[in-house]
Amino acid sequence: MPTETDHALEEGGEPVASAHPLGQSVGVLVPLALFQPYDYLVPAGLQLRRGDFVTVPLGRRSVTGVVWGPALGDVDPAKLKPVTARLPLAPLPAISCDFIDWVAQYGMAPVGAVLRMAMSVPDALEPERALKGWTIGAAMDVKITDARRRVLDLLAGSPPLPPTELARAAAVSVGVITEMGKLGLLRSVPLALPRPYGDPEADAAGPVLSSAQGEAARDLAKLQPGVTLIDGVTGSGKTEVYFEAIAACLRAGKQAVVMVPEIALTPQWLTRFEARFNAPPAQWHSELTGLARRLTWRGALDGSAKVVVGARSALFLPYRDLGLIIVDEEHESAFKQEDGVIYQARDMAVVRGHLAKIPVILASATPSLETMVNVESGRYRAVHLPDRHGGATLPAIHLIDLRLDKPGRQSWIAPSLKAELDKTLAAGEQALLFLNRRGYAPLTLCRTCGHRLQCPRCTAWLVEHRFHQKLMCHHCGFEQNMPDACPACLNEGSFAACGPGVERLAEEAAALFPDARRLVLTSDTVTGPAKAEALMKMVAEREVDLVIGTQIIAKGHNFPHLTLVGVVDADLGLHGGDLRAAERTYQLMQQVAGRAGRGEKPGRVYLQTYDPDRAVMQALKSGDREAFMAAEAEDRRESGMPPFGRLAALILSSRDEAAVTQKARELARTAPHREGVTVLGPAPAPMALLRGRHRIRFLLKTRRDIAPQGVLRSWLKGQKFPGDLRLQIDIDPYSFM
Ligand code: ADP
Ligand code: ZN
Repeated sequence: MPTETDHALEEGGEPVASAHPLGQSVGVLVPLALFQPYDYLVPAGLQLRRGDFVTVPLGRRSVTGVVWGPALGDVDPAKLKPVTARLPLAPLPAISCDFIDWVAQYGMAPVGAVLRMAMSVPDALEPERALKGWTIGAAMDVKITDARRRVLDLLAGSPPLPPTELARAAAVSVGVITEMGKLGLLRSVPLALPRPYGDPEADAAGPVLSSAQGEAARDLAKLQPGVTLIDGVTGSGKTEVYFEAIAACLRAGKQAVVMVPEIALTPQWLTRFEARFNAPPAQWHSELTGLARRLTWRGALDGSAKVVVGARSALFLPYRDLGLIIVDEEHESAFKQEDGVIYQARDMAVVRGHLAKIPVILASATPSLETMVNVESGRYRAVHLPDRHGGATLPAIHLIDLRLDKPGRQSWIAPSLKAELDKTLAAGEQALLFLNRRGYAPLTLCRTCGHRLQCPRCTAWLVEHRFHQKLMCHHCGFEQNMPDACPACLNEGSFAACGPGVERLAEEAAALFPDARRLVLTSDTVTGPAKAEALMKMVAEREVDLVIGTQIIAKGHNFPHLTLVGVVDADLGLHGGDLRAAERTYQLMQQVAGRAGRGEKPGRVYLQTYDPDRAVMQALKSGDREAFMAAEAEDRRESGMPPFGRLAALILSSRDEAAVTQKARELARTAPHREGVTVLGPAPAPMALLRGRHRIRFLLKTRRDIAPQGVLRSWLKGQKFPGDLRLQIDIDPYSFM
C-alpha cells in the first residue's frame, strides 16, 4: 500500500482484479467509522465478489455494505452470521474499492468512513419508486364540473403529469384529481424519471481555438495517462481547452469528472458547458435535491452520467468507467476537506487517476507550489496559455502604501484609491472594491473598560453583522443580539466597532459615491445559486457601477465592463502562522485582479498594503510569478517544509481542559525521536477553544523519504482516548489553527 500521494505515480500499484467469486465467508465493509471489514458467511447458492452491495445484520440492525474481500478469519466461523442478501445492483467498481482503501490508508481514516463518502446516498441503492402521472381516462357519463373541465382541458394538450403539478396547473385541489381518478375520468400511468443531466454531444462544434489553445487542446485530447497542468492566465481559455479533452473522452465512450471549488460552480460555467455540448452535465454539490442525488449517483454507477461537474466529493462517486479527471482552480485550498474524513481532493484526484491509468488535468492561473514543483521535476507535464483570449491585456497591478497614503479616521479607502474610483465612475466604467471579510466589524469593544465581545465557545471575537443585526462567530456559528450594556462594566451605549468588514466598507462607499449604483456581494447577500445568477447578471449587464464584495466574487465570473479593482486590505491573509500565507495571498490577489479588464478596456488594480516591500507584494506588482514561487520554494526547501518534507498535524481535544492537558503530556513522553523526524508541540492551538472544545496541537515533520503515517502508527499504537478526548490526524495540513 503506497503511503505518499506522489509515490503512487512511481510505484504503479496494480488494482486488485475482482472477477472471481470469494469463498464460504467474506469480509463486508459497512459505511460506518470502522477500520476494517467484518466477516460474514455466504449463504448457499449465493456467489459474492469484491464490490457487491449486500445487506448484513449488524447488532440488531440491518445495514447495507460492500463485499470487500476474503474473510479476515479473526472470528470463530461458528459465530459468523450470514449475509442477508445481495442487492440487485451493479457492484462498486474495483477501482472505487481500491481508491477507498488508498484514501483511508493515506489519511489514516477508518476505511468504513471513506466508504460512507462513496455511499453518501443510501436511498440510491433502493429501486426508485416509479413516479405516477395522470392522463385522461375512459369514463363517460360522469358529471363534469368546471374544475374537472379545467383538468381535462389541460391534459388534452399535455403529456401525463404528476398529481401535484397537474393540480397546480389546473388550479384545482389534489382532492379533485384523486376523485377524478376514482371515477375513471383520469387514468394513472408510470412516468419516466426526469434525469437531472443530459447526454453531452462529443462532436458538437466548439469555438475556433487560437493557435496556443489549439496546441494545448490537441495535446490533452490524446488522453495520455498521467498529470498535466494547464498553466494559463485568467481569461486565457483554460476552460475551452479542457472542454476539448472532455470531448475526446466522450468519443472514447468514457466518463469525465470536473472538480471545481464549490464556489466556482457558477451558472456561467454550466451555460458554457451546455453551449459547447448541447446538454447539461450531471452536477454534484450540496444543494442537490434528494431525487437528483439518487439519480446522479446511479447515473455514475450505470455510466449514463457521462460528465459530472462537482465539488470535491464528486471524486467518490462510483464511476463505472471514468476516463478523465479535471481539477479546475487546482490551487484552491477549498479542495482540502477539513472535517470528517480529512483529504486533499486534488491530491486524491491524482491518485484516482493513477489507479485507473487515466489522465488528470489540473488547471490554474496561479498553480500551487506543490504542483509547480511536480512540473519542474518532470512528474507532471504542463501546457501553457500565456495570453488572454482575444487580445485582452492583463491588468496592471499597483501598490498603495497605507503608511503614506492614509485613509481618514474610521475609513479604509486611501485618497489615491478614492481618486481612481472617481475617475472610473466618471468615465462610466465599473469598479470593484474587494475586502475578504464578512460582516460589519471584526471586533466590538467597550470604550469604557476595553472589554471585547468574544465567542463563549471559541478563541475568536464576535463579528458584528448589521445586515442580520447580530453578533456572530465565524468559526462555530454562534450568534447573539448586540447587548445594550457592556457585560463587564455594565455601561450602556459604549460599544465601538473596530476595523472594517465588507458591510462597513459599503457604508463608506455610499458616503463617498452616493450617486453610484452599488451592489454588495457576500455570502450574506448571495444566498443561493439563483440569487447569485441574478446578481452576477446585473453586474455583467452594467446595471451596477460599484461592486463591493468578498471572495465570493473572485472566482469564475466574467465581468466585461469592470476596469478597476481596489483591494482594501491586501495584507489580510498574511497574519498568523500559515505555511502557505504568502502563496495564498498571491493567488487570491491574482484571482481578484483577473476580474478586471476582461472586455475591451484594460483593467487597473490597486492593492492597499502596510507592507509594500514584502516579497509577495513586490511579486504582484512586477507580475514575476516564477521568481516569487522560486523564492517560496527555496524557503520551504531550506526549512524542510512541504513539498520538500512532510507534515502531519495532530489535534487533541476535549471539553475537559485538564484531560486534554494530561493526555498531551502523555503523548509528548512517547513522541518519536529519530533522524529525519521532528515533533513540534504540544502547544495550545491558535484556536485553543473551538465549539467548546479545548485544543492542543502537535506537528509532526518528517523528511520527504519518511512517511508520517508509519511514524504515527507506531507512536499512537495502544493509545486510548477515553471520555470525549479526541485525536484528529491531519496528513498534509492546510489549516494551522
Ligand atoms: P480561463 O478558464 O482561462 O479563465 P475561459 O476559458 O473562461 O478562460 O475563457 C475566457 C473567456 O474567453 C470566456 O468568455 C471564453 O468563452 C472566451 N474564449 C476563450 N477562448 C475562446 C475562443 N477560442 N473562442 C471564443 N471565445 C473564447
Ligand atoms: Zn464560536
